[in-house]
Amino acid sequence: MMLRERGTTATIHIPHITHNLRVFKRLHPGRLIAVVKADAYGHGLAHVVPALADCDAFAVATLEEALALRQLAPDKKIILLEGVFNPTEMKTAAAQRLDVVVHQDYQIKLLSGLSAKSGVAAWLKIDSGMHRLGFRRELAPDKITQLTSLPAVKQLRIMAHYATSEQAHCEQTKDQRQLAHDLKSFGLECSFSNTGAVLNQLADPAEWVRVGIGLYGISPLPQGPWGADFGLKPVMQLSAKIIASKRIKAGGLVGYGGHFQAPKDMRIGIVGIGYADGYPWSPHPSQVLVEDQAVAVLGRVSMDMMAIDLSAFSAPMTGAEVLIWGPGMPTEQVAKDLNLIPYALTCGITKRVKFNVVQ
Ligand SMILES: *Cc1c(COP(=O)(O)O)cnc(C)c1O
Repeated sequence: MMLRERGTTATIHIPHITHNLRVFKRLHPGRLIAVVKADAYGHGLAHVVPALADCDAFAVATLEEALALRQLAPDKKIILLEGVFNPTEMKTAAAQRLDVVVHQDYQIKLLSGLSAKSGVAAWLKIDSGMHRLGFRRELAPDKITQLTSLPAVKQLRIMAHYATSEQAHCEQTKDQRQLAHDLKSFGLECSFSNTGAVLNQLADPAEWVRVGIGLYGISPLPQGPWGADFGLKPVMQLSAKIIASKRIKAGGLVGYGGHFQAPKDMRIGIVGIGYADGYPWSPHPSQVLVEDQAVAVLGRVSMDMMAIDLSAFSAPMTGAEVLIWGPGMPTEQVAKDLNLIPYALTCGITKRVKFNVVQ
């Protein structure tokens, strides 16, 4: 059996993105911001963006991401979720018609350096109690006054972020819902909810929701329900090939550190994917699919390869395709097994993996 190539591939199903966007538009009647930071969560910005043409705005984390996105979406609203960091960035953001989040006084100062004709749309970020970005909630009235008095600010909206949207009923979530309610009373348009909040029905019908991971078909709710339960379709399918196959004797050790010991004579396969491709190094047991059968990853994942249990197969299976995550092997399940979050899996795919875009 000859392999023509190593074959480590991320297949990106573009129609699934459009489908997932439709699912979220059904869940939320108000406006939807598609979050495409970090190269569309590792899926590849350039081919993801056209599939999201029906969203109301895009959001990214950095100015570099926003400039790349501006090329792909000349007329869409683009929101810079961390805002800008210096006067040059401020000018570029204004020239490129980027919405800026404002979460620190230095950013108000940057806005005050612009002339009225810049006409920037700003989002005042209020800290929901997550203590990441945002002004303290009691400062909201003052900051609104300050920002609306600036000639360059042509439109002001409010943003906050749920820290615990995965837990619909915990105290912190209740407090954040109260904050959302209070912020609405200022009469400005608002944005509070991420994917978890939308799936947990925390979103206000009138708000601009910010949906990231869900558009890629993945649910962030650690205990489920998972994407498929909401009718979402996984966009990324990560696969690799069995590049070597061997029989080992009972008692044989597998991989660095010998962390797996064969309980019996068994067949194992070596798969051409490792942590340098984006399959995380982890001491936790996980599984992959071979011909629709879930089989165990054996021992520790190495940089370029990992070993799997092929005891269930009578043939050597060299060259066979291994499904790492995607349809049939939910990314949510793999993340749970590895004690990680699914975000870290798709964002962790490296340049070494080939992309196969299915339109
Ligand atoms: C990344 C991000 C989102 C998207 O979150 P998901 O859980 O992927 O839906 C929303 N809002 C902010 C501020 C973010 O940084």
